[in-house]
Amino acid sequence: SHLRSTDIRTDNSPLQIFVKAKKKINDIFVEIEDYVQDTVGFMKSLQAERNIVTAEEGERIESYVDKVHAIRDVLKRDHMKVAFFGRTSNGKSTVINAMLRDKILPSGIGHTTNCFLQVEGSDNGESYLITEGSTEKQPVQSVGQLGHALCKEKLCESHLVRIFWPKEKCLLLRDDVVFVDSPGVDVTPNLDEWIDKHCLDADVFVLVANAESTLMVTEKNFFHKVSTKLSKPNIFILNNRWDASASEPEFFEQLVKEQKEVRAQHQERAVDFLSRELKVYTPKDAEERVFFVSAKETLQARLQEQRGQPSHNGALAEGFQTRYFEFQDFERKFEECISKSAVKTKFEQHSQRGKHIATEIRQTLDEILDRTQKMKSEQLHIKKEVHDKLNYTEQQLMLLTQEMKDKIHHMVEDVEQRVSKALSE
Ligand code: GDP
Repeated sequence: SHLRSTDIRTDNSPLQIFVKAKKKINDIFVEIEDYVQDTVGFMKSLQAERNIVTAEEGERIESYVDKVHAIRDVLKRDHMKVAFFGRTSNGKSTVINAMLRDKILPSGIGHTTNCFLQVEGSDNGESYLITEGSTEKQPVQSVGQLGHALCKEKLCESHLVRIFWPKEKCLLLRDDVVFVDSPGVDVTPNLDEWIDKHCLDADVFVLVANAESTLMVTEKNFFHKVSTKLSKPNIFILNNRWDASASEPEFFEQLVKEQKEVRAQHQERAVDFLSRELKVYTPKDAEERVFFVSAKETLQARLQEQRGQPSHNGALAEGFQTRYFEFQDFERKFEECISKSAVKTKFEQHSQRGKHIATEIRQTLDEILDRTQKMKSEQLHIKKEVHDKLNYTEQQLMLLTQEMKDKIHHMVEDVEQRVSKALSE
């Protein structure tokens, strides 16, 4: 029961950093869209009225409508992507299934993944797959059916099959984590094409190694290539099948001692690979990226728990609990890493662009305001000139009228005088 209570993930999962950031940036872009729409409307009214706004300004602001729309579309689709690599049969599919808490990907003999498989969440509880270059949803009801569907397709190894699985069945899918399973790095010469097609936007890489052997040159080469294309890839190393070395607990003391030595050796090599060879971490940070797990046990335990049974029936190999805890520890660190990385790589650019758009619009509006203010003061000036002129004319008129009055007055007087003079004569 102790195991179960620690294993239940709640919403204080580190993945929520990404989920919340995504919601926030989406809300901000809704506001930006409103703002752009308002501005476009306002500018149109100005254009219609007088020539305050130039056609070029109008077009520029209107072009932001599409830009903001495009960003909102991309934001809707943004997710956190984790890609799994390693040699065939190291347990990549089993690790993914353990993390998803369900047998989703086919694994084991006869189910070698011979193309890229991407598992992502679907809405409406649907499960289906879409092969590359097609838009047809092929319904998938079971793992067996999925395996069958993958076999019957003639798939090229760098092709991508997208598997959509109901979001509500798995918290990681609900929180927008997308899993990518790859064909074994030992089967392909096309590493460059793989990386360009499937890895450039991955937030985290997980190397699933086999704890029963050392890291292979092919596995190392792949990550050497990745780190030439991505400046500092986030890499975790899972030494999987750690249970297999505990399968013969005849001489228990001896076994524990040997396991310790093997672990120390694997750990040292993995840290050396991450820090000295790839130079992606300091040796101290690299220590935190190497785990010894059993995906098979973890998956089994989780399936048991979901059926309401204890995670192990007592018949499990020695050290099961430690390995199970270590798997959970890996998941926690993985979640922290992927959400931080995804927020930065997915949202940083968008927030810059959002800021840029808002600043540009503000500038344009400021320019327009400036212009209208100039126009207003010019009009005032003209008004004043006209006003002055009017005043002058009025005065002139008044003077003129006065003069006329005087003249007429004089004339009348003169006439009167003359008339009275004539009369008296
Ligand atoms: P992939 O080719 O890397 O995807 O490997 P799979 O996930 O298909 O696993 C290959 C085989 O190894 C399967 O039969 C798994 O059940 C088995 N396997 C996977 N993980 C473990 C593990 O941690 N311990 C043991 N003992 N077997 C495992």
